[in-house]
Amino acid sequence: MIDTTAAHPPAQRFLRVAIDAPAAVAAATGEHEGLYDYRWHGGPISPGELVVVPFGNRTVVGVVVIVDAVATTDPQRIRDVVGCVRGIAPLSTEWLALASFAARYYHRPLGEVMLPALPVAMRKAANYVLEDEPSSGSTRSASLPAVERATQRAAKTRSATGTEAPASITLNTLQAEALAGIVASLQPDAASRPTLLYGITGSGKTEVYLRAIAEVVAAGRQALVLVPEINLTPQLALTFASRLPGARVASLHSGHAAGRRLHHWMLAHEGTADVLLGTRLAVMASLPRLGLIVVDEEHDASYKQQEGLRYSARDLAVARGKLGRDGRSIPVVLASATPSMETWAHAETGRYRKFALSERAVPEASLPTIRLVPTLRAEAADGLTTTLRDAIADRIARREPVLVFHNRRGYAPVLTCAACGWLSACPRCSVNAVFHKADRQLHCHHCGWQRRVPRACPACGNVDLAAVGRGTQRVEESLRALFPEARIARIDRDSTRRKGVAAGMLDAVHAGELDILVGTQMLAKGHDFRNVTLVCVLDADNALYSHDFRATERLFSNLMQVAGRAGRGGARSHGAEVLIQTRAPEHPLFAALIAHDFERFAASQLAERADAGLPPYSHQAVLRAEASEAAEAIAFLEMARGIGLPLLSEQSSTDVVDLYDPVPMTVARVAHVERAQLLVEARSRRALHVFIDAWLASLGEERVKVRWHIEIDPLEI
Ligand code: ADP
Ligand code: ZN
Ligand code: ZN
Repeated sequence: MIDTTAAHPPAQRFLRVAIDAPAAVAAATGEHEGLYDYRWHGGPISPGELVVVPFGNRTVVGVVVIVDAVATTDPQRIRDVVGCVRGIAPLSTEWLALASFAARYYHRPLGEVMLPALPVAMRKAANYVLEDEPSSGSTRSASLPAVERATQRAAKTRSATGTEAPASITLNTLQAEALAGIVASLQPDAASRPTLLYGITGSGKTEVYLRAIAEVVAAGRQALVLVPEINLTPQLALTFASRLPGARVASLHSGHAAGRRLHHWMLAHEGTADVLLGTRLAVMASLPRLGLIVVDEEHDASYKQQEGLRYSARDLAVARGKLGRDGRSIPVVLASATPSMETWAHAETGRYRKFALSERAVPEASLPTIRLVPTLRAEAADGLTTTLRDAIADRIARREPVLVFHNRRGYAPVLTCAACGWLSACPRCSVNAVFHKADRQLHCHHCGWQRRVPRACPACGNVDLAAVGRGTQRVEESLRALFPEARIARIDRDSTRRKGVAAGMLDAVHAGELDILVGTQMLAKGHDFRNVTLVCVLDADNALYSHDFRATERLFSNLMQVAGRAGRGGARSHGAEVLIQTRAPEHPLFAALIAHDFERFAASQLAERADAGLPPYSHQAVLRAEASEAAEAIAFLEMARGIGLPLLSEQSSTDVVDLYDPVPMTVARVAHVERAQLLVEARSRRALHVFIDAWLASLGEERVKVRWHIEIDPLEI
């Protein structure tokens, strides 16, 4: 560290600014945390303010983290701040603390956490107008015209909401208890444990947390509500607005265009919005009056970001609650019918409080009967057993819509040539190319590659190519052949590319305008269908034989979620059924599923995990490498392992941290890039982080050609 006090007049001040710079540049300038020194000539400035600064030959936006810092680099090389952003209130100390927690926990530079958490329109230096500011010496003020425009529009949002009267629902006893518990946690002197709101599908969890939110809003505070997917439920924001009369509801998700995103972010940041409803990215929103955080469907995999900062929004929400505001923790409610094993284990040990809603909320609604339909390969050429056909025909006759769940899109997973054994494959990835009949194309579901379906086998010229296996398009085709009179639609990523299409299909089911809706998981996400009495699952078996230790957990929760769409209509949906075709009816997962017994399933899962020393009984990280040759990626990981092992013995942590052998990833090649990984496992979270800190410091000094990153708490390995 260089002492600058002697060389410079005391008036001179330095700012340490977080910038989202590529790691390579950061390494070249000797920075590790994504913080850079700048000279400041202006008036008062505080941490959390935005500044426009030069960086290399560009001008970028940064967040001031430390003011009046002693320069950490050669003062001669330190450049001046170009402009200080006016018109946007500084980010709060709490927000800065949250970002710095995330940076430490995920072992990423601070700038890489902070900047991507801001709306993209706010991060672009070019969007700012710079003006001289007489009071600030040579530093100019920077204003964002888009922000000013976005704040006129705010008024409209206000008047549009809160017009509908609240529905008159009386909470049942279990709901009332859960609500009382959550409301108690809002009190200043309450204990700070997160709450697990565990309730079967349709048990009225949403109703409970909506009322807790109403209390929070009435007390003048803000509520943050995270949901897995918002595009499918545009009516959700409306529901919120109508159920929380007078509350101003903003939303944040990736479906918003840049201007809208900025607008809603500002509503939250300025405290104008009382409720912020959003997907995972909203967990880092700035909320100055935050008083409650709700994570709905907390087990959902979409809370995990799979690129850049690979964070779990669920975990950050819990951390944000703990960091709190004004020295007090913020209550966090995690809601799910099938909590993640991590959350469930915390509830079992008492680290989280648990409220259980064990009955359906709508009077006389009961859970559907789940039945297994054993299938033999020979029996169902089109994938539909007679049991399923009969049940579907019956519902069509009764004008009750049927949901058919099949978690694989496209027409067939692969095309094959019977003459020579050729298989359709993606030339860029180590996977099959999926046959899509709708556009007569082969698609790679990993890299997006597409090609017209060949007329003849590219290897031997045989014109008889066969589609093997089944995707949603093929299921739809079979259903149309079987039920030519029925109104059938398909909901998956291919059929719903255009905005509003998915919501339209779901509305059509509600309105009774569809007889059969075939689809992937999109069918299942929280829709409250009152008229559905039959849900069919075509093939549940793939996940049963997966190498991924979380595959059964995911399958169980998917099936529970899908099954949960049936029988929600009270007395008129008695006799609601879920039919699951499987070749492994004896699998223990199904016994628990039929009994609607998540707790039994969770107990057996946790026992297995404890035996095998898997999460939540251990903590994991993976080091991943990408290179053009597989050998290069593996060699890098071998080298990394070689660097790591001595560190373990130095820290005498050989017994608590394990470094596994590098292996290629399950899909090793994607878009010509070979990928491999090395698993790190530790019994204590602390030991894991201590080791990774030391390890990354040593690795960062190696000059290597491969691209690599570390992921903490990976969901898929
Ligand atoms: P979950 O979030 O647990 O799936 P919801 O909160 O969406 O359940 O409730 C399912 C349905 O039951 C909704 O239509 C809701 O309006 C209704 N509902 C919730 N609580 C009650 C109640 N106490 N009495 C009657 N209906 C209720
Ligand atoms: Zn061939
Ligand atoms: Zn590909």
